[in-house]
Amino acid sequence: MFLKRAAALTAAFLMIIHLCGCGAEKEQESMVFAMDTVMTMRLYGGDEELMKSLESRIKELEGLFSVTDEGSEIYELNHTGSAELSDDTMDLVARGLELCRTTGGALDLTVYPIVRAWGFTTGEYRVPNEDELRELLKTCDHEKINISGSMVSIDEGMELDLGAVAKGYTADVLTAMVKEAGVKSALLDLGGNISLIGEKPGGGSWGVGVRDPFSEENIGVLRLSDCMAVTSGSYERNFEQNGRVYHHIIDPDTGMPADSGLASVTIIGEEGTLCDGLSTALFVMGLEDGLDLWRRMDDFEAVFVTDEGEIFITEGLEGSFDSEHSYEVCRR
Ligand code: ADP
Ligand code: MG
Repeated sequence: MFLKRAAALTAAFLMIIHLCGCGAEKEQESMVFAMDTVMTMRLYGGDEELMKSLESRIKELEGLFSVTDEGSEIYELNHTGSAELSDDTMDLVARGLELCRTTGGALDLTVYPIVRAWGFTTGEYRVPNEDELRELLKTCDHEKINISGSMVSIDEGMELDLGAVAKGYTADVLTAMVKEAGVKSALLDLGGNISLIGEKPGGGSWGVGVRDPFSEENIGVLRLSDCMAVTSGSYERNFEQNGRVYHHIIDPDTGMPADSGLASVTIIGEEGTLCDGLSTALFVMGLEDGLDLWRRMDDFEAVFVTDEGEIFITEGLEGSFDSEHSYEVCRR
């Protein structure tokens, strides 16, 4: 049942279209269940050994980053208050914290106790009361994470969760391995964190469908190559109580599910960790603040879908987005 839910989640946001391979390279596919989702890797080229090494690297990273696995470095940090981190975990924590600062705390790696209070970690959903949230918010502050060399420590009650950036980081690591092995065309779909390596077999850009948050259809198709695409949305993991829908992306200022007027955000860029972190953060920030950040940075593009179903794309995607719907192009 777990797997079924995860498979449904994976299908949720971004979909690869026109997968027909017409290149001469050997095609290999692998599916791995890790990081609470289904990961699909398709290589056009490379050998079985490469695929095996990608699979074991995923498992290795999961074993380091997991909040629930008793042997993980993050588990140790959360349960003892300090831990010595391996290079991988330190890389991700450092990059994640940089993104926390860049986004003014819309991304906050210490939001885990609040996510748990809502039941998103177990599926036993509940709405925490105001007092409870007020108490939990005291433990939520990415600036209170202490790093000294390879040691990280946190205050009592604080807990770290890399869930908003871990799949993006994993995509970066695997993409580098695939490229290093000389594979010219590959597709990695790590639970909706998509890495498009090179062009599709036979040439030309890949088609990535952006799902309509309000139906099973796509709102449009992005024509992309050699980049990452990641979506965060409110309709993926949520529950309903007394006629209100509560979803899994938390506004670290309020402890409540983010209510910024957006139904989904898709980020396109070269770095998976950045795309993953920003898709979560811009979902919290909303359209206006998200566009302000985009204007200040030059390493990503975005597709926003509002609660009203309006579509906005940043100008770098002009010409790469096919849609039957009307949409607005945002300028720098
Ligand atoms: P998903 O992992 O579902 O693809 P995201 O990348 O947007 O989606 O990450 C959401 C996960 O990150 C949540 O399940 C939760 O564990 C955690 N999270 C929720 N809100 C925040 C936030 N504001 N900052 C950092 N992590 C968050
Ligand atoms: Mg994310």
